[in-house]
Amino acid sequence: MIISVASGKGGTGKTTIAVNLALALAKDKEKNVQFLDCDVEEPNAHLFLKPVITSSESAEIPVPKIDDKKCNYCGKCAEVCVFNAIAVTKNKVLVFSGLCHGCGACTLFCPEKAISEEGNEVGVLEEGKAGSINFTHGRLNIGEPMAPPIIRKIKKKIKKDGIKGENNDITNRHITLIDAPPGTSCPVIESIKDSDYTILVTEPTPFGLHDLILAVEVLKKLKIPYGVVLNKCDIGDHKVEEYCKKNDIPLLLSIPLDREIAVAYSKGIPIVKINPSYEQKFIQLFQKIVQII
Ligand code: SF4
Ligand code: SF4
Repeated sequence: MIISVASGKGGTGKTTIAVNLALALAKDKEKNVQFLDCDVEEPNAHLFLKPVITSSESAEIPVPKIDDKKCNYCGKCAEVCVFNAIAVTKNKVLVFSGLCHGCGACTLFCPEKAISEEGNEVGVLEEGKAGSINFTHGRLNIGEPMAPPIIRKIKKKIKKDGIKGENNDITNRHITLIDAPPGTSCPVIESIKDSDYTILVTEPTPFGLHDLILAVEVLKKLKIPYGVVLNKCDIGDHKVEEYCKKNDIPLLLSIPLDREIAVAYSKGIPIVKINPSYEQKFIQLFQKIVQII
């Protein structure tokens, strides 16, 4: 089973929910929990899970390399590149590797076979163990705009038997938790697509509601079932609750603003470690998701 944790806006407590859910589920020795931090621009789940990193590998995207001897400057490559990563002048082909998505279209369409591909490192991927939790995260290089390729590479680590059970039923023994980036752009789509369920974390503020509505629209398009966790539920107004009720969106868990939780957070200590009653709350959250699926 793949559960992604996302949020329309940053700072809602998305990683907090993902990390605490992972820790609560990992207490059950029968469960095999995998944690993928796909928030590659600012991965921070490791600050709470404190994994021992055992391997690291480069994440590259294939960018075009032009063979000037074969190129006749026909301009076909620039024509097919929807990302404007190639420009062709009278006697030069310019490749803007920072814009290239590594889609391979230019190589495929070059009539002179003048394009080969070379790897452009966009970041690194690290793997390790946090207790019994299998941990993977990616770090995008500073200034690198292209998050989806490294997210795709992280998602290749999803344990295949974590998706379907013996009779092709979704199993709740193998659980992959994905901490998605905030927002609703390409990196989020890449992170959450193929999930069996998405938890949307928000807060009861006008911004929280506005960005939740955007995230809900994305999930409707992707046809992924979803529910809401309301963090700092006792600040702000009740409009998120009203919106969920009106739209039949399950409100999975509400967490009040708590100074003790905030202080622990600032020290990298998860909620379930300082307040064991939350362990049960996160297990109940998981059980609700299993029922919904
Ligand atoms: S499509 Fe091939 S031959 Fe044409 S300009 Fe691009 S690299 Fe050169
Ligand atoms: S690989 Fe794709 S994105 Fe990159 S330059 Fe070629 S067509 Fe453009």
